[in-house]
Order: sequence, then structure tokens, then C-alpha cells
Amino acid sequence: MTDDSNIYVTIDQQQHPVLCGLCKNAIASRAEVDTPDDVGCVICDTRATNEEVLEAVQKYFQDQHQNEIIRQLGETARGSKFITFDGKPVRNTSYKFIV
Ligand SMILES: [Zn+2]
Repeated sequence: MTDDSNIYVTIDQQQHPVLCGLCKNAIASRAEVDTPDDVGCVICDTRATNEEVLEAVQKYFQDQHQNEIIRQLGETARGSKFITFDGKPVRNTSYKFIV
């Protein structure tokens, strides 16, 4: 994807294309004169403003990061007789946008 109109976020100094949470298509700017910050997915017509995309991606990334920590703690606990850990990963599948 080298289309200039695709939307990217920078996480840990790496650029990630923002994908539609529903069909995993790279979302793109759909700006028109009267809706200058309209972005979204051309396949399923999910639309949002830049701010909404950023919020959704941040939430998605935080959940992924939290799940990774929970997974690691769970593995550590499984290897130990003295530690039990019953943290549950976040199972939210309704992200509007993902990376
Ligand atoms: Zn879509």
C-alpha cells in the first residue's frame, strides 16, 4: 500500500497503516470539500473523523499491549507453584479501526 491517501499512525517510531476493524481494509482519506477530516473504509463505508480514528486505534493498541502483558504473566504463573494469575485478556472484537 503506497497510496498517499491511506491513513498511518506512528507507534514506537514505526508507521502502521490504519485498517478497518470490520474488513481489515486499509482506510483512506475520503475528504470532500464539506467534510475535510472524513476518513474511512471504501469497502464497508465505515467512516469517522481523524480524531475518532486516533481514539479507536489507541484503544485497540492499549488492549493489545495489555493482552500481551497478561499473556506473559499467565505464562510466568503457569511455570510457578507459588504464583497464580487469573487475569483475563480483553476480548473486544468490535474495534472500529485497528492497526
Ligand atoms: Zn471496512
